[in-house]
Amino acid sequence: MTRFIFVTGGVVSSLGKGLASAALGALLQARSYKVRLRKLDPYLNVDPGTMSPYQHGEVYVTDDGAETDLDLGHYERFTGVPARQSDSVTTGRIYSDIIAAERRGDYLGGTVQVIPHVTDAIKQFVLKDTEGHDFVLCEIGGTVGDIEGQPFLEAIRQLRNDLGPERTVYVHLTLLPYIPSAGELKTKPTQHSVKELRSIGIQPDILLCRCDRPIPEGERKKMALFCNVRGDAVIQALDVKSIYEVPLRYHEEGLDDVVLRAFGIKDAPRPDLGRWHDIVQRVTAPEGKVNIAIVGKYTGLKDAYKSLSEALMHGSIANRVMPELQWLDAELFESDDAPIHQLEGVDGILVPGGFGERGTEGKIAAAKLARERNIPYFGICLGMQMAVIEAARNLAGIEGAGSSEFNNYKVAVVGVMTEWQRGNQVERRERGGNLGGTMRLGEYPCDLLPGTKARAIYGSDRIQERHRHRYEININYKQQLEDKGLVFSGMSPDRSLPEIVEIPTHPWFVGVQFHPELKSKPFAPHPLFASFVEAAVKQSRLV
Ligand code: GLN
Repeated sequence: MTRFIFVTGGVVSSLGKGLASAALGALLQARSYKVRLRKLDPYLNVDPGTMSPYQHGEVYVTDDGAETDLDLGHYERFTGVPARQSDSVTTGRIYSDIIAAERRGDYLGGTVQVIPHVTDAIKQFVLKDTEGHDFVLCEIGGTVGDIEGQPFLEAIRQLRNDLGPERTVYVHLTLLPYIPSAGELKTKPTQHSVKELRSIGIQPDILLCRCDRPIPEGERKKMALFCNVRGDAVIQALDVKSIYEVPLRYHEEGLDDVVLRAFGIKDAPRPDLGRWHDIVQRVTAPEGKVNIAIVGKYTGLKDAYKSLSEALMHGSIANRVMPELQWLDAELFESDDAPIHQLEGVDGILVPGGFGERGTEGKIAAAKLARERNIPYFGICLGMQMAVIEAARNLAGIEGAGSSEFNNYKVAVVGVMTEWQRGNQVERRERGGNLGGTMRLGEYPCDLLPGTKARAIYGSDRIQERHRHRYEININYKQQLEDKGLVFSGMSPDRSLPEIVEIPTHPWFVGVQFHPELKSKPFAPHPLFASFVEAAVKQSRLV
């Protein structure tokens, strides 16, 4: 029997509903339950793929090629369960399906309405593809009271009636702000938010309360009384130093016990939290540190590179060090008097993925410095393309080498992909076609060349990694670049798409066309990140 946990948010956004859901998923998994996590986003975009990272943070890509909310990244990192297309939905997706059905004539004769058509579609999404799972956790994006969120709340309200109370639990995440002049944590915003939920027919079973100091007994009792929940179902969610402490802290506060009790489960296995104790120990007691510069475009918003910073943390966990990340705007390195010396003392340089021309000359300058000064360099997607352009210009002497994604190029060493192989099928794209969902997305195989660093790092001949790109290295320049020392160590199985490049004479210079950060976990650091951080640790001992 699959049970459903609905996680809503109250008071303000950015309370960490995604992390809270992921941590609860991890706790249930630690008791040997099979869990799945999904996200319901009330905005009107069909998916976040066309949104600026400044609007929405990073776009997380699944194996099966969905462009999703970054919370799916938290779910995967905490549970190791690969997210799928069927774990992410938005109002835009629901409406576009309903409107397509209406145009086909599926509702012929009927008036199409929010209730029941939109709510039914939301319920179908929640229930679909859940067989064999003990718990499905559904996080509702936004905050209770948002107009866009109403159909989603109505749908989960109906689900309690449809499935029964023994299969549904509502967890409401709120904020208890501390008011210094009163010297108190305030419960009123939580009371209002719960009142709002109850007015639409949802009585939360559990309150998860974010706070920066412990909740006094009196405030707990007050919330239990006014919000109509049991006293021990008011769970304190104190601020923590590392997100990986959250499962342990929630367990100490009794969250998983209260959830199981709300479902009436009495014989739950004891949790095995060994994995989380080990991670927290490594994060809180590192044996050293590494200084890594990330030369990117969206450096003003850390959420734009969420999986990346987490993967660097995982690589550091593997090496028992603490990463010190310097987020540097690539445009800094574009002027004639660019402060490139800022990069000289770092232990590693990483150029992440990105879109558009802005900052690309700065990224090329960073790749050049890393190559010439033997500083470990990790180029991801656009960061690989920039490293190849740099090598084309400065090693192979191809003047005007660039990418056809930009205006200022003479020779397209990186060019738009119009067709590629997916399994036995050829995927084709028109130049100037739709932007949404049309990139080379999701997991593809890649063959590793024997005797290369990539082959040694992965310890395997064939790997699977996730992609999200429209441009690729032009294979016609492969020989010319290899003659100058840039080895193409990973290729698509049909040998048409370069996937990994490296410089064997450099301590650590690797560019990858895919996004390894999406698959890294704290308990299974991605081998490329573990190896890059290891190289950075060696570099730190040289400086
Ligand atoms: N803009 C480049 C492309 O589309 C790189 C994409 C990325 O870094 N994710 O190929």
